[in-house]
Amino acid sequence: PSHIRNAIVLPRYVRVNTIKTTVEKVMRHFADKGYSLGLPEELAASEIPPMRIFRDEHLPEMLVMPPNTDLHDDPLLVEGHIVLQDKASCFPAFLLRPPKGATVIDACAAPGNKTSHLSAIMSNTGTIFAFDKDRARLDTLIRLTTRSGCTNISPIHGSFLDTDPNDPKFAKVEYMLLDPSCSGSGIVGRMDHLLKDTSENDVDGETDERVRALADFQKQVILHAFKFPAVKRVVYSTCSIHRTENEDVVQHVLAESPKFGLVANAFPKWTRRGLEGTFDQADRLVRTLPEEDRTIGFFVALFERQGGHQSAAA
Ligand code: SAM
Repeated sequence: PSHIRNAIVLPRYVRVNTIKTTVEKVMRHFADKGYSLGLPEELAASEIPPMRIFRDEHLPEMLVMPPNTDLHDDPLLVEGHIVLQDKASCFPAFLLRPPKGATVIDACAAPGNKTSHLSAIMSNTGTIFAFDKDRARLDTLIRLTTRSGCTNISPIHGSFLDTDPNDPKFAKVEYMLLDPSCSGSGIVGRMDHLLKDTSENDVDGETDERVRALADFQKQVILHAFKFPAVKRVVYSTCSIHRTENEDVVQHVLAESPKFGLVANAFPKWTRRGLEGTFDQADRLVRTLPEEDRTIGFFVALFERQGGHQSAAA
């Protein structure tokens, strides 16, 4: 097979913000602008025809449009009815699925796309503590989640790693979304990474050290999350394709923290799982590949507390 991968162009993904609108209303808006509902084979074609809109087959609030569809001044975007968010980056909140009224931590939250998705899934109820250590990025989160109409978010400026898990403020936190800084090697456009064979631990030279440092940080974030007394479900994600930041991180934290395990049937409709041969539960993990899945390269692990504290719905 050809290894020339210089032309990956992803569709335009549009997440409907159900706090402000519905999928039907957004479809009607685009129909009024001349878009028509595309056929599945048109979405599967190597070039999506112009002026088509599709419903995504995996995520209920996701619409798919031709690549480079320019929506930057569309009133639906300006008024927060839609969010431009790649498909795979909607997996973590979708899989965590906190119920209405839940107390949630989004540990590395800015600019807040996953925070506002969580908020919508919770029907804008309960509380989401949204941490970020970067003030400017947290300000962006505040602006974007306000635009999305979220009123259940409590932004906190500071390092998640410095928070005290036993602070009474966090006593009711049962759900956590962890999307820490990563190498970004799955982001389409960084061809140097995409050209490599991901089945190997393919980091090299100076990248190697950087990726290892990131993996150390990612492990710390997950292990810190596991210390919160009421936490029962934790989702971890990266937009990296390196197993160092993905399967290896998961394997490490499971060994360190036997109180937590991987949810056995997370996202059964999704067939691309963790890299085979990395460890025995890799099939419980979720991966995406840009060419095959037409979304950024992404990784998701869903943990749950073992024993008496699991949610009945698990
Ligand atoms: N979840 C975000 C979204 O969907 O919009 C993207 C998060 S981005 C991958 C990682 C974020 O983690 C950055 O904004 C960075 O400032 C923040 N971060 C890094 N170290 C942190 C720490 N120790 N505590 C809190 N946030 C941190």
